[in-house]
Amino acid sequence: MKLQMPDYVKKAILCLEHHGFEAYAVGGCVRDSLAGRTPHDWDLCTSAQPAQVIDCFAERPIVKTGMRHGTILVVFDGMPLEITTYRIDGEYSDCRRPDQVRFTKKIEEDLRRRDFTINAMAYHPHLGLIDPFGGQQDLNLRLVRCVGEPHKRFEEDALRILRGLRFASQLGFLIHPETRQAMLDTRERLKQISLERILMEWNGILQGNYLSKVLIENTSIIEVFLPELRPLLSKEQRRYWMSTIFAMSIVPNALHLRWALLLYGISEYGAGYKAALQALNRLRLERREAKATELLLVEARVPLEPDSVSLKRRLYQMGGMEPVRALLVLQKALARAFPNFNTDEEKLKQVQRILEQIQESGQCFSLRTLAVNGRDLQELGYAEGPAVGICLHQLLQLVIEGTLENRKDVLLEYAKDHM
Ligand code: ATP
Ligand code: MG
Repeated sequence: MKLQMPDYVKKAILCLEHHGFEAYAVGGCVRDSLAGRTPHDWDLCTSAQPAQVIDCFAERPIVKTGMRHGTILVVFDGMPLEITTYRIDGEYSDCRRPDQVRFTKKIEEDLRRRDFTINAMAYHPHLGLIDPFGGQQDLNLRLVRCVGEPHKRFEEDALRILRGLRFASQLGFLIHPETRQAMLDTRERLKQISLERILMEWNGILQGNYLSKVLIENTSIIEVFLPELRPLLSKEQRRYWMSTIFAMSIVPNALHLRWALLLYGISEYGAGYKAALQALNRLRLERREAKATELLLVEARVPLEPDSVSLKRRLYQMGGMEPVRALLVLQKALARAFPNFNTDEEKLKQVQRILEQIQESGQCFSLRTLAVNGRDLQELGYAEGPAVGICLHQLLQLVIEGTLENRKDVLLEYAKDHM
């Protein structure tokens, strides 16, 4: 079997070999290539010690930040490549980070420390696949299965529980029953994992194309790090949790859409708006995503109306086409998922048509496209300061309402009359 491998990766492997070391592509890139997907990045593992890796690539840009764990980042023609020395993780006293890592000369030992069989394969362009734990077979069976004894592996590092759910959500794989049972048995250990690591995997889960199954089946794991979810899971409210999941799975896999719908469920049918925001802040979603999510959450309940003036007001308030389009997608999903949501799909289709018209005809709904600006008003005699801003906003409202045409002469005349 031959896998497609970029030239720079081959070059790096051959270079390490030329210096007398072993080197293989390993982990996600091997998994994805075998499954017929293009890997988003390539990682190497090698028998060379970090200092030896540095010597091998002395003339290339190198980043040494991961050195303690044996990782050197080498840049090839602008492409970063992580090269990690074969290692055995030491004891885990805190179920998240090994107390120490030990380097080894045997690739099998390095593969043994990896989380799942599908991630524990290595590939060499001439020697082929190294697969001591049946990763290829599990890949064909579409299975997430721990390397070794699942309870022990999750006790070592509970983040692996979420990594497993992430692969299930992204790849649509089943979780092997023993692995799944161990996930359930050890789930409380997620409390010892830093929120930063949790957020990374949780965001991955949320963006998966097979999200709904993972959420339905693993609610008891999710509530460990998302306790704000609990009221929504009660017997009375649970059907709304199902509706929330349904809504999340019919929107595109953009993070702010998925987050906003999750928080909508919590806010409307569970712990309430404050708790929903608290979840967002506690997990410290990246600022831009958090802002976009919050805006959608705030606006979700107020239906978009199929009326040009009202839509232009929304465009103005929400800051442009992109957030309003996201809101439209969100409300369509809510209308489908929640029978009592206060708008319907037909109305939202009209909204879409009107939005397209507004965009195509280049109608004005922002100060940026208003035919006059602050300098024009000052030339007219307006004093520098708040008066200019107030006047511009007034003019914009009148243009949005259709009272004034968005033409410079018309707007200046109005401004002059109302100075
Ligand atoms: P992706 O394609 O999403 O990046 P990946 O499998 O490459 O998936 P990474 O987080 O980049 O995931 O990790 C690279 C490899 O390191 C994994 O394939 C796995 O072999 C190993 N690995 C990562 N995190 C862990 C962990 N917590 N425990 C054990 N092995 C891990
Ligand atoms: Mg990776």
